[in-house]
Amino acid sequence: SVVLVTSLFWAFKLKGANERLRVLSRTDSLTGLANRAELNRCFDAEVDRARRYGRPLSVILLDLDHFKRVNDDLGHLAGDRVLVAFADVVRATVRGSDTVGRWGGEEFLVLCPETDGEQARVLADRIGAATRRHPFATGLAHTVSGGVATLRGGDSVDSLLHRADEALYRAKSGGRDQACAL
Ligand code: GH3
Ligand code: MG
Ligand code: MG
Repeated sequence: SVVLVTSLFWAFKLKGANERLRVLSRTDSLTGLANRAELNRCFDAEVDRARRYGRPLSVILLDLDHFKRVNDDLGHLAGDRVLVAFADVVRATVRGSDTVGRWGGEEFLVLCPETDGEQARVLADRIGAATRRHPFATGLAHTVSGGVATLRGGDSVDSLLHRADEALYRAKSGGRDQACAL
């Protein structure tokens, strides 16, 4: 029975360690958000689901404005802190059913199930406003641009992302600190 207790103990320990590894492999280490691999998995699943049940699905691609300047003027560490704070702002602004992840660098992606284009636009504007008024530790006002795309018949994950990217490009060339939808 000592053997039984000991092996149960190790089995539980291993289970816990495996669970922690599984979580780590899905998480962006800087921000604690979903990482790109996890976003891709969720994205595939959400597109499948929205298609099958004829439900709306929108995505918002977010890109911090003039972020290179933040690093150049204040250093990479200050830049990292802005990324962490921004991640918290987005997390606090979206619904629990939305998935927020770090797409790469200073780009983030929000997957919004059951959300049409108009609702996603409103959400993107809310993220923009929350970012603008957030008291970042840099003492500066940081802004974000957003590209919104909503699933259409015939869309794939790639074509949807491509539209979000195009919408983001429009938001940037339109003066930044705004969201565009396609
Ligand atoms: P735009 O408004 O057009 O988006 O300008 P930008 O400067 O944000 O865009 P650009 O793509 O030229 O630069 C992105 C910068 O983001 C450059 C890079 O140093 C910075 N960056 C990317 N990943 C990280 C990171 O993990 N930490 C920090 N501190 N900076 C990062
Ligand atoms: Mg960028
Ligand atoms: Mg940028």
